[in-house]
Amino acid sequence: MDVYGRLTKDIEKELASVLGSGGIITEDRDVLENYSWDQAGRIWGHMPDAVVRPENTEQVSSVMKIASLNRIPVTPRGAGSGLNGGAVPLAGGIVMSLERMNSILEIDPVNRVAVVEPGVVTNDLCRAAAEKGFLYAGYPMSTETSFIGGNFATNAGGGKVVRYGSTRRHILGAEAVLPSGEVINVGGRFRKDTWGYNLLQLLIGSEGTLAIVTKLIVNLEPKPGKTVNLLACYPDIETLVDSVSKVISSGKKIISCEFMDKKLVQYTTEYLGCRLPEQERSEGYLIIQIEADNEEQLEESYEVVGKICMSCGAFEVFVAESRTDSAAMWNVRQNGLEGMRAKDPYACSSGDLMVPLSSVPEMLKRISSAGSKWGLEMGIIAHIGDGNIHPIPIKPEGMSPERWAVYSEEFFEELIKEAISLGGVGSGEHGVGHVKQHIIIQSKSAAELEVLKGIKHSFDPKNILNPGKMFFPLET
Ligand SMILES: Cc1cc2nc3c(=O)[nH]c(=O)nc-3n(C[C@H](O)[C@H](O)[C@H](O)COP(=O)(O)OP(=O)(O)OC[C@H]3O[C@@H](n4cnc5c(N)ncnc54)[C@H](O)[C@@H]3O)c2cc1C
Repeated sequence: MDVYGRLTKDIEKELASVLGSGGIITEDRDVLENYSWDQAGRIWGHMPDAVVRPENTEQVSSVMKIASLNRIPVTPRGAGSGLNGGAVPLAGGIVMSLERMNSILEIDPVNRVAVVEPGVVTNDLCRAAAEKGFLYAGYPMSTETSFIGGNFATNAGGGKVVRYGSTRRHILGAEAVLPSGEVINVGGRFRKDTWGYNLLQLLIGSEGTLAIVTKLIVNLEPKPGKTVNLLACYPDIETLVDSVSKVISSGKKIISCEFMDKKLVQYTTEYLGCRLPEQERSEGYLIIQIEADNEEQLEESYEVVGKICMSCGAFEVFVAESRTDSAAMWNVRQNGLEGMRAKDPYACSSGDLMVPLSSVPEMLKRISSAGSKWGLEMGIIAHIGDGNIHPIPIKPEGMSPERWAVYSEEFFEELIKEAISLGGVGSGEHGVGHVKQHIIIQSKSAAELEVLKGIKHSFDPKNILNPGKMFFPLET
């Protein structure tokens, strides 16, 4: 017996009448295929029976009422830039793409918030905030593609976490549609409350397993002062890592502290057709972004930070003199995954190890020795100031893509256990999806899993919202 209901022609008609023209796709296999996978790779994909593209909360709610009545699975989807198969419709059914709910509804300068729909591209929000003299401080490296709703659902991190924290810190309120179709509003245009259990915080990072977010109230920071980017070049990884905690506790306003290793820089600069300074000699680079109130303070800050890097063993620290210089170094950082994929389209993007800053040196050693043991070539990028490391291994020659999907995840399973043994966790920002599900389940106690199941059940008693993800294997 099927666990879920079938999407019959009658149900499709009912959905079409709610959604209007362009709101539902059921026949075009090519279009459906585009919604069957995310950036974890096609190999982790699964075809939906239909894609719905609502334009407002009422439509989201109506779709959920129909889905709930007929027990049809629904998988929310943002831009599909996730790296662990979170937006993949594992049980088939409906993919709900939030792409048409893409308006910035309001920038409210008095309360320092923006009110946005979930399909707004992260960078569009950053730009709109900047035009009004504010900063939206979320900055995943996918900022030009990912949606704010996806950032909410994965608690996205990125390049400014050292100073501003991850998405959780930027969200003040949300409107969300429950699997039953009921609409709830949590949080608001305020920055603190002790008004009972905090459902907003529970929804952030829940990867579309509890509710569909349809509106967000986000915090805006005051416009930052002057900023500058430094590129520090190191002869070895040990000296580089030694600088990180010293830079962060320098007392200067450090916005970003990002790491790229030699191999990643080599493949990415080949892909982009550019060079970074000192590429022959450098085993690794740090990009450090610093903020200060004025030019004088900024100069003083980067001199202090530059000296720290040099005293730890950097052989050169370049100060970006212009926007073009800054863009050039950040371009390499942002395109690290693309660079590795240009070398090998199967380069595995799901590595997302998170350890305390003090354990970063040991974690990097363990990554390197595991790489040798498993016979893997890899590049490494890291939000190193947060202790968040992304090794990107490439498929060994001759290995089939199917075998590689399993092999690379076994490799990461070993590394996640190492990260946990060093006081960390299996993901700093990419989440669980279904790719990392078996590992997160192993890492939780029976008692904790029971509580988590209870939470899921109270939101989604029919288990129709994004089934088969996070702690909850697919029912068979
Ligand atoms: C090149 C590259 C660089 C990246 N860099 C970073 C980085 O620096 N930091 C980082 O954190 N991530 C990074 N990522 C991963 C990814 O971009 C983030 O996880 C992002 O937040 C996903 O947003 P999305 O809109 O693409 O969501 P999707 O991939 O579409 O969905 C992600 C999850 O959110 C759920 N979801 C989406 N929208 C909603 C909604 N409205 N309501 C409820 N659930 C929803 C989905 O069901 C799914 O579980 C990177 C990815 C790429 C390809």
